[in-house]
Amino acid sequence: MALDEYRRKRRFDVTSEPEGKSVGRGGKGARPAASKLAFVVQKHRATALHYDFRLQWRGVMLSWAVPKGPSLDPAKKRMAMPVEDHPIEYNKFEGIIPAGQYGGGTVMIWDRGTWTPEVSDVDAALAAGELKFSLAGEKLHGSWVLVRTGQRPGQKRAAWLLIKHRDEWATKDDVAEQAPRSVVSNRLLVEIARDEGGDMKRAADGDPPALLREILDQLDGDAPAARPARRRTGGRAGSAGKPASRAKSGGPATPRRRRTSSTRSRV
Ligand code: MN
Repeated sequence: MALDEYRRKRRFDVTSEPEGKSVGRGGKGARPAASKLAFVVQKHRATALHYDFRLQWRGVMLSWAVPKGPSLDPAKKRMAMPVEDHPIEYNKFEGIIPAGQYGGGTVMIWDRGTWTPEVSDVDAALAAGELKFSLAGEKLHGSWVLVRTGQRPGQKRAAWLLIKHRDEWATKDDVAEQAPRSVVSNRLLVEIARDEGGDMKRAADGDPPALLREILDQLDGDAPAARPARRRTGGRAGSAGKPASRAKSGGPATPRRRRTSSTRSRV
């Protein structure tokens, strides 16, 4: 486990993704279970939409790409393809990976929190291909399992399945559809793309169509106020004193923009 593959795939002078601190094998990073372990799910509209499911372990984020995203329904096994370990700093990344770069597209922090192994030996569980754990996130809770399937010929890595265990958090509700926004900025993908200079059209097809329609309808409703007033048209004096926007503050704090200057200048 190291970040070599992660780094090899990226150009840090172009992307604003974090390079990540180096991870020592036996050093601080190896300390398991001493403190809480982070998990994050990043919704990523790249070549195709997927959800990157990441569990902190031994100083890195073990990562799986889940095309359909996690399901709270134990009957729905979600395919999870293992991908390269990511740095822990990546958990804070929400924004745009420039077009043409590895993973180019829009990234949203879809859920985050802590995870707890439900096995005594995580390394052995990973090696055996069956890791049981529980999540304490904002959208995902309770008991889950990641199970490795048999490797098909021609597959580079064996696929895993992400499955919700039956417990009080299990439900048939479609969490991806019902809770599509960022847990840090409350934005949809299209709003992240808009704010950070990404491809809005491409980002938007990862958002639920019903919500997009709502946003468009709102735009229609606000149009008179949003358009720059060309000249005073007499009859509308009454609206002049009202603030033009309903400053729908998109939730907590504006996202940090660490190195966006470099990406911005390319837009
Ligand atoms: Mn991804």
